[in-house]
Amino acid sequence: MHGDAIVVTSLLWQTTATAIRSGEEAMLIDSPYFPDELELLPTVLSQSGFEVSALLATHGDFDHVLGPLAFPELSLGVAESTMLRLQRSPGEAQRDLRDSDGRLYVDRPRPLALGGTQSLPAPGKLELGEQELELYPAEGHTADGMAIFAPWLGVLVCGDYLSPVEIPTLWRGGSVADYRATLERLGAVVERAETVVPGHGSPGSREDALRLLEEDGAYLDALERGDERPRLPEGRDGPRQRDLHSENVDCAQG
Ligand SMILES: [Zn+2]
Repeated sequence: MHGDAIVVTSLLWQTTATAIRSGEEAMLIDSPYFPDELELLPTVLSQSGFEVSALLATHGDFDHVLGPLAFPELSLGVAESTMLRLQRSPGEAQRDLRDSDGRLYVDRPRPLALGGTQSLPAPGKLELGEQELELYPAEGHTADGMAIFAPWLGVLVCGDYLSPVEIPTLWRGGSVADYRATLERLGAVVERAETVVPGHGSPGSREDALRLLEEDGAYLDALERGDERPRLPEGRDGPRQRDLHSENVDCAQG
């Protein structure tokens, strides 16, 4: 990828954290999971020349909002829709994190604090150095979220969409209709992108993302038909993805 963007991938769920730089300024989007990954992150990034001065999260799921654990002095920017979710369900991310940590026997040196969270308009633009990031609403996986595009780098960070390792998932207010609208919106941005960074899994090319876009549309068709055992996309058809499909069926009906 371009030297002004760097992607760190967590050992948990291949969750991505992306730093984007313009001149002397850098922002970090989303977060890795494990305490040692978070602890090392500021050093790894600064050794690569990324002096992070702001944090962003693509959506409010707990695995994407852990940036403040690595950079406690920085505030976290989220879409208005995510701010609303955080306000409506205070403590949800902390509870989910505690549950997940409990299952994995993970100890943390400090609790997650989201008090410094700031709301950003999506659609909207956000200044970074001499450049501007483009923010797009991205709802459907959950009731909230945004995708972030750095036009000068051709890098799109799309949150929990267009993943090469996970089928589309509906969760916490997600819906097929919103998911489709987001895929359509992302499609137009993908056409302008060189690299697409999903919330989970390796970054891919524009062509990779266009293929995922098509596969995910076909999957949503099957989900809407209520298929119990649809053909899942290649590479995303293991037992865990079958379980996610069953959860999607419950969520879509429920
Ligand atoms: Zn996620």
